[in-house]
Amino acid sequence: MRAQKRTVWSISVAALLLAAWTAEGQPARQVDDAALKNAGKTGTEWITYGLNYNENRFSPLRQIDATNVSRLGLSWSYEVGPGGGGQEATPLVWNGTLYGITNWSIVFAVDARTGKEKWRWDPEINQPAVRPKICCGIVNRGLALYEGMILAPVNDGRLEALNAETGKPVWEARVAYPQEGYTVTMAPRVVKGKVIIGVAGGEFPVRGFFDAYDAKTGQRAWRFYTVPGDPSKPFESDAMRKAAATWENDYWKLGGGATVWDGIAYDPDADLIYVGTGNAGPWPEDIRKQKGKDNLYVCSVLAVKPDTGKLEWYFQMVPGDSWDFDSVQQLLLADLTIKGRARKVIMQANKNGFYYVLDRVTGEFISGQPFAEVTWAKGLDEKSGRPIVNQEAHYDSTSKVSVAPGPGGAHNWSPMSFNPSTGLVYIPIASTGGFAYQSDPNFNPKPGQMNMGIVFGFPGFGGPAPAPVPTRTAPPAIGPNPPAGQRGGALVAWDPVTQQEKWRRPGGGSIGGGTVTTAGNLVFQVIPDGRLVAYSADKGDKLLDVQTGLRGGMGPPVTYELDGKQYVSILGGTGPIVNPFGGGGNRGGNRGGANAPAPGTTGEATNRGGTNQAANDNQAEDAPAFPNPSNAVRPKLLTFVLDGKEPLPVSQPADAPKP
Ligand code: CA
Repeated sequence: MRAQKRTVWSISVAALLLAAWTAEGQPARQVDDAALKNAGKTGTEWITYGLNYNENRFSPLRQIDATNVSRLGLSWSYEVGPGGGGQEATPLVWNGTLYGITNWSIVFAVDARTGKEKWRWDPEINQPAVRPKICCGIVNRGLALYEGMILAPVNDGRLEALNAETGKPVWEARVAYPQEGYTVTMAPRVVKGKVIIGVAGGEFPVRGFFDAYDAKTGQRAWRFYTVPGDPSKPFESDAMRKAAATWENDYWKLGGGATVWDGIAYDPDADLIYVGTGNAGPWPEDIRKQKGKDNLYVCSVLAVKPDTGKLEWYFQMVPGDSWDFDSVQQLLLADLTIKGRARKVIMQANKNGFYYVLDRVTGEFISGQPFAEVTWAKGLDEKSGRPIVNQEAHYDSTSKVSVAPGPGGAHNWSPMSFNPSTGLVYIPIASTGGFAYQSDPNFNPKPGQMNMGIVFGFPGFGGPAPAPVPTRTAPPAIGPNPPAGQRGGALVAWDPVTQQEKWRRPGGGSIGGGTVTTAGNLVFQVIPDGRLVAYSADKGDKLLDVQTGLRGGMGPPVTYELDGKQYVSILGGTGPIVNPFGGGGNRGGNRGGANAPAPGTTGEATNRGGTNQAANDNQAEDAPAFPNPSNAVRPKLLTFVLDGKEPLPVSQPADAPKP
């Protein structure tokens, strides 16, 4: 009886506090450790990249639901800048303000009700000097918020803390130097007063790492290198000593790779930070002179202690990678019942086409199945999760083979989301249909330049070489085999418990856009061609399909609630993009992922069930890769609301590129 009374009292107080809080128009609540731990619980604000530490992008908001989402219309828009690349950022919403980051790491704050600008901050990157050092697009994926500060990654290697109210710098830290091939594109996360950030640039000769900085001062607290360095020098840690045993020859002279440029998650109970690591560099194991070596910790998930950066466990998805299978994709935490047992899991829809479910406390492999067409492996070992690699998928300078997925990945940086009510993960995927790999027979390491070590084909775009023609038959495919017309880019609703596809809808891609799911039984998907689409989360019924007019360079959707109204916001548009190969044309933002040096257009075919499927049949859905510069739309932030009446942007020419 007493316990019951106490419960009632607690609920009333909570209701009162909640009422007072909303009635006062959302006063500034500090984003501190407690707020981050509870992030996303009400859905009114969006204070960390993946909405919460679980990175599940599940919003409890339900004003917009499956019955009324068709009434969604534009409420306001804001021009974010001249462009120069895709918009890959997830905006943050706090204290009535929406914060975003656009090309060349320009940060902005606007009123989340109206889109009226509050401030802008331009890090004034030395663009002519830095541009050639950016491997994969002039892009940023997001920001962090902490104790009145916006933490912003700057492409040229800086980490900036800005006053969230004024946009004025508070401190600046140097994470890396572009002169050494590094860039910074990922969204930082804040864990126990430390800002966690990694480096991009794995196609350059770099040694991957991620860092923790004191959020108050910007002082570096620790650094975790992901691959070992010069063996004539002392190892930084036991983890590096162990890793060094999995490398041979002069690997360290070309860096080794394993950059950290996307997925991070944190479990406060296990007190573990999780990060994913990128491909080995150069790509082919024969050019790295690493045949048969695992090359730790490339293509892995690492679990480290936030206080010290000490490694607690690792799981390597692709030992001795040769296919650019960065394993940096979103790391999503959930508590699932699997085979009758409650499991705390960490999940990833890997570039390599497998959906991984691991125990996040121990790193134990639970399960992994292909969610897209896979030919590089026959499957994963049931016990260890180690891939059973198809021997035909190995290549060198004379043996060329078409392998799926390709370097763009079956899933890349485009965020997925997990809805606890349906138990489904909504993954934007691409079935590339194969990419022709060949080691570069004339490979000569070039300091300060890309050193992928493979022959790239860029038909029609003034690229350096024609695409390799496979000399061997493609290995047989495993994974879902959708009917013709539903191949290529798609949204897949995946059951992580049974490791099976529940439903699939055409449209999407591994690079560009992404998803958010809500308690209103909805999945919002941004499709790289500029569309905002909504489906019922349980059945996949299409309920909304709007062409925003941005036509490319799309970022993922977020949702928030302010003054009793639920909003959906997205960034998109590229503006003119300088062709990285110096030829004519303009590079489209939807291919600008940090590991997509315009691959995937090899025109190769892959053999499946006796039918040759065109390699680039997903391209039709994914906005033209090189739009005419005069048609490139100036990038915008668009915010939608029920019964919004503002006109959508039409094709508005962007400003001419500055000389
Ligand atoms: Ca890569």
